[in-house]
Amino acid sequence: MTRSTDFNATRARFHLPDGVTYLDGNSLGPLPVHATERVAAMMREEWGEMLITGWNRAGWMDAPRRVADRIAPLIGAAPGTVVLGDTLSVKVYQALASALEMRPGRRVILSDSGNFPSDLYMADGLVRTLDRGHELRVVAPDAVADAITDELAVLMLTEVDYRTGRRHDIARLTERAHAAGALAIWDLAHSAGALPVDVTGGRADFAVGCTYKYLNGGPGAPAFIYVAPEHAEVARPALSGWLGHAAPFAFDLDYRAGRGIDRMRVGTPPILQIAALDAALDVWDMADMRDVRARSIELTQLFIAEVEARCPDLALHSPRDPEARGSQVSFRHREGYAIMQALIARGVIGDFRAPDVLRFGFTPLYIGEGDVMRAVAILEDVMTNALWDRDDYRRRAAVT
Ligand SMILES: *Cc1c(COP(=O)(O)O)cnc(C)c1O
Repeated sequence: MTRSTDFNATRARFHLPDGVTYLDGNSLGPLPVHATERVAAMMREEWGEMLITGWNRAGWMDAPRRVADRIAPLIGAAPGTVVLGDTLSVKVYQALASALEMRPGRRVILSDSGNFPSDLYMADGLVRTLDRGHELRVVAPDAVADAITDELAVLMLTEVDYRTGRRHDIARLTERAHAAGALAIWDLAHSAGALPVDVTGGRADFAVGCTYKYLNGGPGAPAFIYVAPEHAEVARPALSGWLGHAAPFAFDLDYRAGRGIDRMRVGTPPILQIAALDAALDVWDMADMRDVRARSIELTQLFIAEVEARCPDLALHSPRDPEARGSQVSFRHREGYAIMQALIARGVIGDFRAPDVLRFGFTPLYIGEGDVMRAVAILEDVMTNALWDRDDYRRRAAVT
């Protein structure tokens, strides 16, 4: 396959600290070099000089939609169907609340045990708030398809499992949900920027995701929400904040939902953070998502083959078929936490997910074969020589 993406050029756009092999871009993308100056310039020239007039003169008010339109092509969404704001947990709540209201006669929300706990917690909180007898039903990931029945109001899943990297088939499961009369909400936290996504072709009703993982928007970058065009004027926002109002500056006492995706806005957007994200998205002008996916598969296949050959005590916890996983690879070991600390101390940064999962993200925009081989060599040293076997490596930090 010929590739149009120059991965040396994309890599040069990121600041990667000396001596670090960064395999955790699935949790927090690294700093795009030019984001520093972009944010500094925005602070100096816009916030500093324009003060409150920046909302109009610098286009801050439109930023959540304008920058979301740069994410839209990465997830197969049409322009004007995605907006930024809040955190992913909040966007999950919003999507679910609107979807449940669109299926008033039904009571079951179906999700799976591979979903990220916050998504399930938000659903649980919403069910309690509504107090109308909804049930959050959680089944094993491979039992989802058969659990789709005509009791369902909403199918709510994350495409790529944060722990194992296992990938659901959006189009197939959405089709089943629709055939059963339910709506489908897809969380793209580990998909957007990691692999090609097609919310339009897959007929997702709602999709949500974050921008600080594979989209490199920085810690605390705002989440995004997509609403299918046919629902845009129907979905009623539960978090009915003033910036989702049809006329925020009319200051009406009554809420009227704004047009289309704008109604999913809540309050004042994080303009500094959006400036950093906007800069980070520039790198996608240089990259073709199909190339990124093909390269990701090469890197993950290489990593799995090398680790299995050289570290026999680690058990693969991700699907072996690359089509069945996202852009991360996980291995299990009962001392996984200490092993990861030993790796981090030697400049290989991945992360750990309880109870025993070592997780490594592969992000071709800035990770290549040399990084994979270096990481495996250090992992082999840590395993062969039990370098992880130290009390200080077993002491858990707040963030793992
Ligand atoms: C990362 C992640 C989150 C995090 O939500 P925040 O509100 O941004 O902290 C939620 N859901 C999934 C599936 C995730 O992967």
